[in-house]
Amino acid sequence: MAETATTPDAATATPQEYDVIIIGAGVTGMHQLKLVRELGVNVRVIEAGGDVGGTWYWNRYPGARLDSESYSYQYAFDPELLGEWDWSEMFAGQPELERYYQRVADKHDLRKDIDFDTRVESMVFDEQTNRWTLQTTRGKLYRAKVVIAATGILSDPLFPTAPGLEKYEGEWYHTALWPHDKSVDFTGKRVAVIGTGATGVQVIPKVAETAAHLTVFQRTPNWAVPLRNRPLSDQDMAQIRAGYPEMFPKLRASFSGFLHSWDPVKSTDVTEAERDARYEQAWNSPGFAKWIGLYNDIAYNAEANRIYCDFLASKIRERVDDPATAEKLIPKDHLFGTKRVPCETNYYETYNRDNVELVSLRDNPIKEFTAKGVLTAEGELEFDMIVLATGFDAFTGALNKIDIRGLDGQTLRDKWKDGPHTYLGIQVAGFPNLFVMGGPHGKGGHGNGPRCSEQVVEWMAELVKEIFERQLDRVEADPEAEREWTEQVVAAAAGTLQATAKSIFFGDNVEGKPRVYVAYLGALPEFVKRLYDIREGGYRGFIIS
Ligand code: NAP
Repeated sequence: MAETATTPDAATATPQEYDVIIIGAGVTGMHQLKLVRELGVNVRVIEAGGDVGGTWYWNRYPGARLDSESYSYQYAFDPELLGEWDWSEMFAGQPELERYYQRVADKHDLRKDIDFDTRVESMVFDEQTNRWTLQTTRGKLYRAKVVIAATGILSDPLFPTAPGLEKYEGEWYHTALWPHDKSVDFTGKRVAVIGTGATGVQVIPKVAETAAHLTVFQRTPNWAVPLRNRPLSDQDMAQIRAGYPEMFPKLRASFSGFLHSWDPVKSTDVTEAERDARYEQAWNSPGFAKWIGLYNDIAYNAEANRIYCDFLASKIRERVDDPATAEKLIPKDHLFGTKRVPCETNYYETYNRDNVELVSLRDNPIKEFTAKGVLTAEGELEFDMIVLATGFDAFTGALNKIDIRGLDGQTLRDKWKDGPHTYLGIQVAGFPNLFVMGGPHGKGGHGNGPRCSEQVVEWMAELVKEIFERQLDRVEADPEAEREWTEQVVAAAAGTLQATAKSIFFGDNVEGKPRVYVAYLGALPEFVKRLYDIREGGYRGFIIS
């Protein structure tokens, strides 16, 4: 049910009462809804989008697709669906993923418990009743004992810092807010794409196919590697399906839920010829084989990493005809894998087209948007369309967007002004009965999303069960446990190669955001074991009353 313009305003509205509210009907929120509903509690999901799927609902730009193998990314909880759903490609595109999540919602009748087109604006904890009151952007009120924020780590779109976008009179689109109600046509148009991250490298080749002219504005080049997607035949699917009983446990035992894992061998333990052959073989293999399938020292030894960077730079030079353009596309400021590695299809070849031009924002920054296009240091450039592939205020953006007030009126924004503080990425001290699934500091959604979140979501459902069975008033993070966890998360990232690069993992892409590590560097099985040990120990680190 969508929130309508006739919704009464906050002053007159009576809150709708629930036991549990889940914010977000994306990949994590859908699974959480299914599990919480099975407990027999009264649960409602509030979702800003018009349908389920989260990331795969919003990011519908041409070229959007997975770079984890489709079958490794699907839900594991429905054996019947696993038996009947055929993936058409090794790395599914957005339309197929959207269909998949719609199918899951239909099959499990999820939509009846979801309010779509409804965005939470604020949340206040009432210390007398131990309940949260949530208000939406249109003034609708909800009240619940437990709130689970499944708001996602990449759901708060980031816009360029250059001013004046509102002056621009042409068409413009952010890739994460791509229109649902019309198809965007690049044919014969002068198009600009700003941003060359994982999204940019996917959309740029698609725009180039039909645009009259494409100008790519690049702030930082990335180490993008070929995806090597391919269709899956019936025979392929039969073989893949037969492997599910081994595949899911293997993924759960892996570092981040991916089919690939670091080779225990170091690049320095093999001959140069062996190493080069291995890099060539990885280069020709699908997906992350060229990243987390490699010699493990690439992840932590700068010299080993640099040798691999040289290999990748040689590939870029081979693929891009114009040597000056190739040099602009080769990263000089960060090592391989220290930022998220984008997987691409024909990305580098796109720069060999006559209708494509690469502008480095380092040499020629955008000063402002104008009515006709952009004003750069070298003059005004006119465009019929501007595509913003400028990413997200990752990890903390979605939660900080909501005005969340906990004990003593403290706001989450204020508490996190120097970076997030959490216990296990799941709770924040001073914000009782609020749980986060897939936010900063946690494993639930960082890595291969569904694999990293599924066991955390199951753990969460069991905690919800205890809260209602034992009629608990409050579950909240112990400030001391929060301090320890936060210090541990930050310390684990210090001194790593990752820390040498400017990235979304340190908030570097958002102006004014404190430079603090926001993800979690530990392994999935260790994180899950820790959660279950904590439960065995009577929820150590949580204050329960
Ligand atoms: P991103 O990696 O943050 O890339 C954003 C791009 O826009 C970067 O090139 C960035 O430059 C540039 N940019 C940001 N602000 C700018 C500004 N004010 N002016 C000019 N340029 C600016 O975002 P993304 O590409 O959307 O990817 C985000 C995440 O989404 C990825 O890490 C990945 O986890 C996920 N993703 C996954 C897939 C997939 O599974 N296949 C596909 C797409 C995205 P700088 O590098 O200098 O900041």
